[in-house]
Amino acid sequence: MYLRENPEEIAFRTEVRNFVQCELPTDIRDRVLNFLRVEREDYVRWQRILHAKSWGAPAWPQAYGGTGWNATWRTIFEEECFTGGAPRQIPFGLSMCAPVLMAFGTDAQKARYLPRIISMADWWCQGYSEPGAGSDLAALKTRAERRGDYYVVSGQKTWTTYAHWANMMFLLARTDSEAKPQAGISFLLLDMKTPGVTVRPITTLDQGHDINEVFLDEVKVPVENLVGEENKGWAIAKYLLGHERTNIAGIGMCRRLMRRLKEIARSEQKRGRPLIEDPYFRQRITKLDMDLMCHEWSLMRLISLESGNKAIGPEASVLKIRGSEIQQHLTELLMECAGPYAVPFVPAALELDSTAATAGGKLLNPLAAQYFDMHKISIYGGANEIQKNIIAKAIIGL
Ligand SMILES: Cc1cc2nc3c(=O)[nH]c(=O)nc-3n(C[C@H](O)[C@H](O)[C@H](O)COP(=O)(O)OP(=O)(O)OC[C@H]3O[C@@H](n4cnc5c(N)ncnc54)[C@H](O)[C@@H]3O)c2cc1C
Repeated sequence: MYLRENPEEIAFRTEVRNFVQCELPTDIRDRVLNFLRVEREDYVRWQRILHAKSWGAPAWPQAYGGTGWNATWRTIFEEECFTGGAPRQIPFGLSMCAPVLMAFGTDAQKARYLPRIISMADWWCQGYSEPGAGSDLAALKTRAERRGDYYVVSGQKTWTTYAHWANMMFLLARTDSEAKPQAGISFLLLDMKTPGVTVRPITTLDQGHDINEVFLDEVKVPVENLVGEENKGWAIAKYLLGHERTNIAGIGMCRRLMRRLKEIARSEQKRGRPLIEDPYFRQRITKLDMDLMCHEWSLMRLISLESGNKAIGPEASVLKIRGSEIQQHLTELLMECAGPYAVPFVPAALELDSTAATAGGKLLNPLAAQYFDMHKISIYGGANEIQKNIIAKAIIGL
């Protein structure tokens, strides 16, 4: 905690900390804090515990069942949940689809989906990227053809996180192939159980399975699942991406990694002394800690714009870049710090009950998987190179 807090904020921080300590199931905490695999059921269980406390949607307005918290309270909440070992709240429904529905959805869409998002009755995934349409999203080729009361959707989505766990997808599809690329796109809500949907796994560098290819073959999507106007989906897509980038500022994750780094640096020895006392290593940790402090201040500045009812602009790109860089540096330092214990990469060590998870009595094996896995964060949510283009154009004016 770097920010100076007033008494109410301090009391709130204590309340959240106690809540996480008492209510977070121990098996979930163990998995999370030791960087082991977290299962679908773990995320759902924790979300429901938060929801029962009315903390299920920290960033939503109270009118929709959210907390109505300001930026500072949300940051405190996130920080305490992360450092207390809670799994992250899955953003696809809560922080991506929901803000879109609130801003562009019909009353019926809001009434149907928002309560199911907050209680996690639905698990959402994001159907934006396609082979040939990642950074250049407007090149997407998935088609949605209106036939009576349905759109018939055909195409392929890729890198779709948790599509294998999801029962709903929000997707972008081309509804007018004659128009300019951005002009002919629509935003649709798809029930993943609809005939014609096929999900195939993609195995990542850490041997994990979070992401997928999704094939759509003449999938019928009811017209009432169109969000906003037909062919006006690009504005919605961009609105959603602004939210996605602030979510991946990753402050909570940075804090968790920083805490682990300091713990290990205190317990590991270099020439008979704790590693944390080594001046060179200490300097590197301090530099990262300062970077993290600046990052947190930048996030606070940006999200406080929302309280003043100003939309989040291209500055979100700065957060995305810094957040991903800091997290990657932290996992690099963690690997170095754990030395030989971090080197063997044993996928089985990622299971909670695995004996392979301990090396020299320490739970350090999963650090390698974490290090590999962290490479992805400078790619998803808009690759860092693309964020730099946005900054150059929209902020610096080049
Ligand atoms: C782990 C993970 C999870 C993901 N989850 C989802 C998901 O749930 N849903 C979803 O829709 N998508 C998801 N994505 C996809 C992600 O959004 C894309 O990977 C990302 O937008 C980059 O697109 P691409 O992979 O097609 O790479 P490309 O766009 O082909 O880019 C390849 C490289 O070229 C660089 N590059 C491209 N264009 C430019 C340019 N104009 N200037 C400078 N450099 C450029 C990029 O920065 C990158 O380094 C996920 C990706 C990953 C890695």
